[in-house]
Parts: sequence; structure tokens; C-alpha cells
Amino acid sequence: MLRVIRKKAFCRALGPGCRSVIWFYGCSRSCLGCIADSMNKSNKYESYEPYQLAEWVINNQGIEGITLSGGEPFEQPKKSLEQFLKSIRKNSNLSILCYTGNRYEKLIDDIENQKILKYIDVLIDGEYQINNDNGQRWRGSENQRFHFLTSRYAAEKDKWLIARERQIEIELDLNGSILLSGIPSKDFIENLTTQLDAKNISIDFS
Ligand code: SF4
Repeated sequence: MLRVIRKKAFCRALGPGCRSVIWFYGCSRSCLGCIADSMNKSNKYESYEPYQLAEWVINNQGIEGITLSGGEPFEQPKKSLEQFLKSIRKNSNLSILCYTGNRYEKLIDDIENQKILKYIDVLIDGEYQINNDNGQRWRGSENQRFHFLTSRYAAEKDKWLIARERQIEIELDLNGSILLSGIPSKDFIENLTTQLDAKNISIDFS
């Protein structure tokens, strides 16, 4: 089973085009300033069979691909993650982006990870470093790297490396909480949190 904290069918803030984003539950790291920290510790998640999650993705008409975030995708049951990605590949032409706090060089040493990585078009690796945010698009800190593992976006590599514009999507859920998607800067989070705290409004970052 795959443990999911949140999923969003249509998002333009975490990768090229319109994408379905899945935030997996749990991460054994404790990066200072991790925006998913409270969700990772909440113990609130939904469990999905790989095929169920793949079906949800494939039914999201018009998306260009999926983005896996977290939490740490590589801390999900490996076989389930592999089956999920295999199903996406087999039944669609969707691109697959994946964030991880691990380094690619470490992941690729493990045979189970290799079976997962072969389905990923672009891996964004490295821990989040709050004081090392240089505003680059789709990456939270300067140490994080793109690994173009297939040819899907390889021709756009130079453009991706210098891109600086960021998008953030903000939604209000039925419980009155604010859900934020994207990679906000430290200043943005501090300002927003201060203003919302004053109004007694909670916010979930992803
Ligand atoms: S690796 Fe990602 S999810 Fe895990 S603690 Fe660091 S920023 Fe948070």
C-alpha cells in the first residue's frame, strides 16, 4: 500500500505543464524549514493500492504528467511504488517527476531503487536547505539537482537550469484550512504565517 498525505489532480506549480501531484506520507529526515513537516508528523494519511492510485492519475484528463513529492517517495514500500509507476507507464504517456531528499548516486546503488528510477523522467535530488534558497524554479535550494533520466525533457535542460520564476497555488479546503502548493521562499512563508496566525487561520504547506 502507498501512504498519501495529499493529492492534487491539477497543479502548475511543481513541474512542466499541468500535473497531478502526490505528496507521500513520512520522511526520516528533518530538514530545517521543511514545509511538509507538520503533515509528515500528523499520522494522517490515506492508503492506496498501486493500481488505485494509478487509476486516479490516469483519469485526470488533460495532464502532462505527475509529480511525486512528500514526505519522501523512496520511503514508501518499494514494490508498491514500482508497481504504481509501472502502471502509469503502461497505461499512459504521462511524464514522471520525482523529488527526493536522497542523492541520486546513493539511490542508484540499490537494486530496488533501480527498478523505480527506470520509470522516472526527471529526479530532483538533495535535502532542502532553508538558507540556501536562490529562488530557482522547481527546486527549493541551490544544492538540489535535476537528473534527466530519460530523453523526455532532456532537450530543455539548459532552460530548466536557469529558470527563476516560481508559481504558488493557494486553495481553501472544506475545513477552512489553506492548502499551498509549490516552492515558497522562506520570507513568503514567514509573512503569510504571521498574517494568518493573527487571524487564527491554519495553513498546510506542500
Ligand atoms: S527530505 Fe523533504 S520531506 Fe524530508 S524533511 Fe527534508 S524537505 Fe522535508
